[in-house]
Amino acid sequence: MKITGYQCYFIKLPPRRVHNWASKMNTPIGSHLLLRLETDSGLVGWGETPAIATWGGAHMMYYGETAQTVQHLIDDYLFPVIEGRSPLEIGPIHAAMDRMVKGHPYAKSAIDIALYDLAGKMLDVPVYQLLGGAHRDRIAIAHSLGIMENDKAVAEAEQAAAEGARTIKAKTGLDPVRDVELVRMLREALGPDINIRVDANEGYHSASEAIRITHQMEPYNILFTEQPVADLKDMAYIAHHVNVPVMADEGAWTPQDILHIHQHRAAELISLYVTKPGGLYRANQVATVAESVGIRSDIGGSIEMGVGCAANLHLGAAARIAEFASVCSVSRPKAAQNGQIAGVYYLDDIIKDPLVYEDGALLVPQGPGLGVEVDEAKIQQYAI
Ligand SMILES: [Mg+2]
Repeated sequence: MKITGYQCYFIKLPPRRVHNWASKMNTPIGSHLLLRLETDSGLVGWGETPAIATWGGAHMMYYGETAQTVQHLIDDYLFPVIEGRSPLEIGPIHAAMDRMVKGHPYAKSAIDIALYDLAGKMLDVPVYQLLGGAHRDRIAIAHSLGIMENDKAVAEAEQAAAEGARTIKAKTGLDPVRDVELVRMLREALGPDINIRVDANEGYHSASEAIRITHQMEPYNILFTEQPVADLKDMAYIAHHVNVPVMADEGAWTPQDILHIHQHRAAELISLYVTKPGGLYRANQVATVAESVGIRSDIGGSIEMGVGCAANLHLGAAARIAEFASVCSVSRPKAAQNGQIAGVYYLDDIIKDPLVYEDGALLVPQGPGLGVEVDEAKIQQYAI
């Protein structure tokens, strides 16, 4: 089987509500590139990449990408590398893509996910089998509260918890007083059994500010604090001075980042993404390096649609270190929505059948490839 063609679509799904975070600046969620990869056998693979112009590594170590830059990369650099090749040559294709262009992991990720979808369909196995097999068959969701007024955040958290979410992730980092007050209010409303985690998206001014705020949150039992500041050495200083684990996200993209984090003792947790390292193949490498130095993770992402979310679930199944509840979207087409908000960020989706949500967790799809079917009519509806 050979790769013969492709189609890129820019898709914008209607959001359930505005989703904000401290470093967000101007880019809204939900403008994603969807890739349809075609073969001479008629089999089709799907990839998705939630490229965001204002999402990058600490100190601009990694740059923002957009749906438009991703399409340019695929058109002019990456498709010429993969045309005529077998979807089973995923490692060699990554090496060839890296020889063609440095960086641009979100563009490479779209291709990588579509290759795994095709490879799984060819071999009639779910993608997690191609990543080494499943350590778990479901991924607990962490319901993410964007930055919003505290009263609204608490009401949304209560509803998400009533709908089964056992972990609430609060976006912080813009206003220390508000952040501590929100955590206090969440703990009071949710009781002792729900996990509360915070993510400042590099928003605090200094390590010492982050340490003070984290100490003020500790009486309310936070699970961990995610990327309070950008700098690796500041992260290490914070990790040394607070009593809760620190998670690296913006600072954890590649296997080399994990080694640096470990060398500096800058975090004991990372947010493992499909996209930051450039796809499932590379994410598996990140997970392996992290596991070898005792770093554990959740599965993170950028509020993917059904295709990207399925890729996240397969990674979460196969990565032994992915023990923590994860911000994976409960992807559901409009007809299958029932008013639930736990893990729901869009009012519709481009997959035909909803992902299965059960008791606070998403079940890992068991069909061949990604195990989701794309609804091409929805592509027409939401293409921009
Ligand atoms: Mg984060």
